[in-house]
Amino acid sequence: MTRRFRRADYGRILIVGTGRAGVAAAEELRRQGFPGDIAMLGAEKEGPYDRPSCSKGILTGHKRPQDTRMPFHDEDLTWYLGRRAVDLDPEAHRVETDTGESFAYDGLVIATGSSPSMPKWAADPGVHMLHNLEHAWTLRRSLRDAERVIIVGGGITGSEVASAVRSMARDCVVIDSKPQVMVRALGEEVGNYVTDVMRDEGVDFRLGHRVRSANRFRQGWVVQLDDGENLTGDVVVATTGGRPDTAWLESTGLDLSNGVACDESLRVIGLDDVVACGAVASWPNLRYGPQPRKAEHWISSLEQGRGAARTLLAEDGDAGPVTVIPRFWTEQWGLRIQVCGELVPDGEVAISEMKRHRRDTARAGVVVGYHRDDRLVGLVSVNAAHAFTSLARAMIATPLPPMQAVPLPLHTEKPQREEVAEPARRRLASVA
Ligand SMILES: Cc1cc2nc3c(=O)[nH]c(=O)nc-3n(C[C@H](O)[C@H](O)[C@H](O)COP(=O)(O)OP(=O)(O)OC[C@H]3O[C@@H](n4cnc5c(N)ncnc54)[C@H](O)[C@@H]3O)c2cc1C
Repeated sequence: MTRRFRRADYGRILIVGTGRAGVAAAEELRRQGFPGDIAMLGAEKEGPYDRPSCSKGILTGHKRPQDTRMPFHDEDLTWYLGRRAVDLDPEAHRVETDTGESFAYDGLVIATGSSPSMPKWAADPGVHMLHNLEHAWTLRRSLRDAERVIIVGGGITGSEVASAVRSMARDCVVIDSKPQVMVRALGEEVGNYVTDVMRDEGVDFRLGHRVRSANRFRQGWVVQLDDGENLTGDVVVATTGGRPDTAWLESTGLDLSNGVACDESLRVIGLDDVVACGAVASWPNLRYGPQPRKAEHWISSLEQGRGAARTLLAEDGDAGPVTVIPRFWTEQWGLRIQVCGELVPDGEVAISEMKRHRRDTARAGVVVGYHRDDRLVGLVSVNAAHAFTSLARAMIATPLPPMQAVPLPLHTEKPQREEVAEPARRRLASVA
């Protein structure tokens, strides 16, 4: 293995965020031969775990929290868990936390992921969200006594929750503004197939509707829709998406409009010695084009974490672009759904049914390919793992034409740091 450790002037690298991306970055730093201190700073008290299990095994009771620990090489990492970063001072190379501590760094990896964005109607703290182990555990406890569960948001997570709820023989209604579930993630065709499966499995849908209000009474919840219909239930879950966890970076003047803006190597634009990776980062993935974008899946976060670590260790101008092919999987309703590449809405679509003339297309197996300029650029399959794997391998092996990143004006400019209120600064104790 070629090791590329170059930044001999780095004594300590601080990684903020101990999820998939942060841990992958730490492992890669060691793999590249970085001998210094690697400090892992994380808001959650738990060590790294498998976040996707929160909407799967934990809810159904097939997994306990201790079964979700993330396997990784803990090679001499220093852990600071249960501490939330609240401010970054890039001039001083320090990160400050809600515990009043201050962490110095030579190199910094921003890997704070995303957190649920709760809509206005979900202001009551009794509305469940689902992003971490604690949320999953709390929801599981509520599901035990529930008879009818209202899920708002028919994306991947909402549909996984519905699958868990029905497997526990609870009634379940799914509300979404789109006419099918999971359209954004799976495309219209597979979105349609899976919506049919869910209907067959007894899910009650209110598609094409938005929630107007949710009120809790002694007898349970009343959720009112935009057409005036009132739905009643014992548990309400909002799975309405997330937003990048960037609140702690607000004083830096960085471009945080769609996550932390990075160049094609995942170096944070405008800051020396800082990279970002995972769900918090927005960067031009040159495999697909020069426009900044996000890749918010488990495997992409792992690959970005590794790429960002290599960039941090490279000398200036020596880091290559970090490119990833988005891919993810989900298991629900007894279906194994896999996605690779981009499901381009304007692409040509080819549908291959594994067993023709079966009414239950999804259960019988189906692969949908998305083509652009006669190239396969996206793939989604249901219960067709074999076909998916060989097509995905071929797609990954085919390089796309190289593209240039659009030069961003912020690239060379140092952002202006907004002053943090003096009293808050003074309270900070120094631990490093
Ligand atoms: C319920 C659920 C199910 C999912 N299922 C799938 C799936 O089946 N397949 C798939 O591919 N993807 C799935 N995902 C998405 C996948 O989990 C994410 O893409 C991945 O976890 C992103 O990794 P990350 O390291 O960027 O961020 P995260 O995993 O979110 O980790 C970020 C970490 O940073 C910490 N943090 C945040 N702010 C601060 C701060 N200020 N200071 C210190 N620490 C901070 C957070 O507490 C967290 O521990 C799922 C996500 C959820 C929520």
